[in-house]
Amino acid sequence: MVKFIASSLTVLLLTIAAVKAQINIAAYPKVNEVPPITSPEVQAWLKEIDLTGAPAIELHKGAPPACPNPPIANECYWTCDGCAADDITACAAPNTWGLTFDDGPSVYTPTLLDFLKTNKLSASFFVIGSNAIQYPATLKREVAEGHHLASHTWSHHALTTLSNEQIVAEMKWTEKAVMEATGLRLKYMRPPYGDINNRVRFVLKKLGYIPVDWTGDAYDTNDWRIASGWTEQQVVTTFTKSLDAYVASDKAKGFYCLEHDVADSTVKVALKLLPLGIQRKINFASVAGCEHDAQPYQAGSTAPMPTLPGVNPTTPGQPTPSKGPTTPGGGSTAGGNGTANGPTVLAPKNGASTMVASGLFTAAAAAAAALILA
Ligand SMILES: [Zn+2]
Repeated sequence: MVKFIASSLTVLLLTIAAVKAQINIAAYPKVNEVPPITSPEVQAWLKEIDLTGAPAIELHKGAPPACPNPPIANECYWTCDGCAADDITACAAPNTWGLTFDDGPSVYTPTLLDFLKTNKLSASFFVIGSNAIQYPATLKREVAEGHHLASHTWSHHALTTLSNEQIVAEMKWTEKAVMEATGLRLKYMRPPYGDINNRVRFVLKKLGYIPVDWTGDAYDTNDWRIASGWTEQQVVTTFTKSLDAYVASDKAKGFYCLEHDVADSTVKVALKLLPLGIQRKINFASVAGCEHDAQPYQAGSTAPMPTLPGVNPTTPGQPTPSKGPTTPGGGSTAGGNGTANGPTVLAPKNGASTMVASGLFTAAAAAAAALILA
């Protein structure tokens, strides 16, 4: 018996080692801490970019920081003044729920992936580097099942509180972790807490990243509030009102939600929220699908560029085909029901924003709806 337990334990440890061996955790900084900028790796990354000309905006304080009072001129601070500059804040596809999950991967992510697979839905996962090195197999599964990976920094600190060099460290270590697990070099990112201003944007652009915020307060599902007292039903009721308001609008643009795959409660409520969209015949897409980006990762990826649902395949290096006119920006927030404090939605300027719903995209959504409603 003892021998059996010992051999079982050995098998278990070897299995864990086999998964862990995909990422050499010892080669990475401490998890959940801002990586030091003195390491040889960060010093090498800093040599690759020119941060000269970064806006001289003072660092904010707090976790997350309070809004500066008085406001800082020309900061364009999304969380406080709703200024989004050229961040992506709305899904470019009409009548579409831009499906994004932040803060993973976690032990709860596979449950969500099972649901998405059953319903043929594709999402973007904004992963935290500190979690990515611990669950490389989950990252691989996400890619294999048609999902899109994006960055949510290494340690989930508010970026306006970090120096330019620390932002580089946060982004590049996460990029390295996902590259090691999947061979894909991340291109899109979401700032933790939506905390982004013009200084942060400057650094992100130097690194080739495109920020994706969410479409204002109405599209924060508030799933994270369950940890601090909200009931699951409160989340469902509140978000149902947002969806109904969206359905009653012109739906010319889609929306990006704030959801998380880091806790049991946020995954469980996601499995209740998503059917609400399907019942309302809202399409679903990842950021790549929403923005019709056939190159949803940066050059330098060592794995082949995956073709994601909703994106027409193209030859690498060729322009993304466009089937119709662009959705002009400068209008209202998606659905026209953004709050007074919500972001100004501008036309995405990522060079791949000429999204129209493709036949593939629509067919996949219809199939998903049929599965759920049957
Ligand atoms: Zn987050």
